[in-house]
Amino acid sequence: MAPSRLLLKRAPFQRGTIAAGLFLAASLLLVPRAAAQAPALRAQAPKVSKAPARPKLVVLLVVDQMRADYVDKFRSQWTGGLKRLVEEGAWFRDAAYPYAATETCVGHATISTGAFPATHGMVANAWWDRNAQKMVTCTSDPDPSVKNIGYAGATPKGADSAWRMAVPSFAEELKFQTSGATRIVTFSLKARAAITMAGHKADAATWFDGGAWVTSSVYGTLPFMEEQAKSHPAKADFGKTWTLSLPESSYWYGEKALGAVPPDGWDLTFPHPLRGKSGVGEPDSAFYEQWASSPFADTALTELAENAVDALKLGNSNGTDFLAIGYSPVDYVGHEFGPRSREIQDVLIRLDQDLGNLFAHLDSKVGRGNYVVALTADHGVVPIPEEMQTTGVDAGVLRLPEVQERIEKALEAFNYAKPVVARITGSDIYFATGVYEKLLADSNAMSAVLEAIRTAPGVAAVYRVEELRDRPATQSPTHRAFAYSYFPGRSGDLFILPKPYWLLDGTPLGKPRSYGTGHGVPYNYDQHVPVLLMGFGIQPGEYFQSITPADVAPTFAALCGITLASRDGRVLAKALMKPATPRAQTTSSPPRN
Ligand SMILES: [Zn+2]
Repeated sequence: MAPSRLLLKRAPFQRGTIAAGLFLAASLLLVPRAAAQAPALRAQAPKVSKAPARPKLVVLLVVDQMRADYVDKFRSQWTGGLKRLVEEGAWFRDAAYPYAATETCVGHATISTGAFPATHGMVANAWWDRNAQKMVTCTSDPDPSVKNIGYAGATPKGADSAWRMAVPSFAEELKFQTSGATRIVTFSLKARAAITMAGHKADAATWFDGGAWVTSSVYGTLPFMEEQAKSHPAKADFGKTWTLSLPESSYWYGEKALGAVPPDGWDLTFPHPLRGKSGVGEPDSAFYEQWASSPFADTALTELAENAVDALKLGNSNGTDFLAIGYSPVDYVGHEFGPRSREIQDVLIRLDQDLGNLFAHLDSKVGRGNYVVALTADHGVVPIPEEMQTTGVDAGVLRLPEVQERIEKALEAFNYAKPVVARITGSDIYFATGVYEKLLADSNAMSAVLEAIRTAPGVAAVYRVEELRDRPATQSPTHRAFAYSYFPGRSGDLFILPKPYWLLDGTPLGKPRSYGTGHGVPYNYDQHVPVLLMGFGIQPGEYFQSITPADVAPTFAALCGITLASRDGRVLAKALMKPATPRAQTTSSPPRN
């Protein structure tokens, strides 16, 4: 038997004893100390043991908008789960999305499927539907039999599912290929995260909408969720205050982030009270915005996941279960306060504590080493342009409505019926029906359009749809990025590449920006994210080769002994433990149900 697998078996036994003490001590600070004992425990591993051939539980953690450099900057202040991932896991320091549309739905679908948007088809959070002549979100489902369902009496609007995701998720493949023994459970504040991580069917996919936890009729509802939604509603956090966790001198940045736009009811400085718009009375929509932008929402997601582990006995069945959490607050905080803020630093300190609790819970209930965890992010974020400008670097705001006006004006001389542009969303320009086909046969008009876009402030380049089809061979990383993002029928006709540090902004002309900063372009600040793996079958260490988050699902698949049909990612073979003896000795019998 492989020594590595012996270690994996031995660790949970030892760890269980320590974990019990930990729970009694109820101290987060003990987690890293216990973790530090792990190498010594491993050295005492017995010679004979029956390690599981596959992980009992696969855990996917996606921290929305977590830049890779947050790990370098802030890890010395972490004492919980983020610290444990860095110190005991495999840390891939050069992980980046190779595609252009660095948005939430796209990133989660990529992590979940192991494919790029050109394959999985989730090209943006929302895109222009040419047939319906309207914007559609990536999870909106027009099937009249599909309805969203609220827990604890909530009556959510809408109907969401993964029907637009063109390939199965890793979790779906796992369930299918292991004869259904797998339970799939996902949580996030966002539908586009919970749904894409789960896939087309799941035992539970839960997100937050209008103050309540909700799911869709395509997924199951769970009794424990109903209980939890009733006993621990988000509104129970009304009146709490988000204060700094560490002394002021521990923070990298000043108390006010330049260009920040906090939620209604909050100042630019700590403390941030969760009391809604007016500061008194009942929970209102501003309260839920504050809550989603606070560490309290991360804690709520963690507690839901822990309850799911207990109620469903995840990791204790015949098969390999799948649990995913999309931690959304870092994204809300980043959009409001920017990446260079005390708020970002502090929300990560608190998330580190939540993850410490989660791992201690999994150690206790599933067994240390019986589960594998991956933590990554769906995209990064660009610094707030107004702050970036103080460095003297060329930075600014690329106003999409201004680009639209320029295109309309450029075609006035060519006899095109207005409006020629149906929609500009993100980088994608969609022309009104028939206009782009006409432009293709009208080179003077096309040149005028391209020139009008290229000369707009902040534009670096424009790509045409015909340059992106069939994944062209090109040395240009940005051209290739748009090709990896391109999906026929859903993507635009023309694609805007902003200059670096220029924010794509769709705010109507004359109105103030309602947020601090954003993401969604093929530059490293949006593409570069952490990838950390830990637990079953993972060889700890720091890894410097260039990888993408699409490699997470194929790596999970390799650990679980299944095959993904359509993948663009690769197995992170360097971070997998190598068996020293024939693998036949660790083969288990197939699941019975
Ligand atoms: Zn996101």
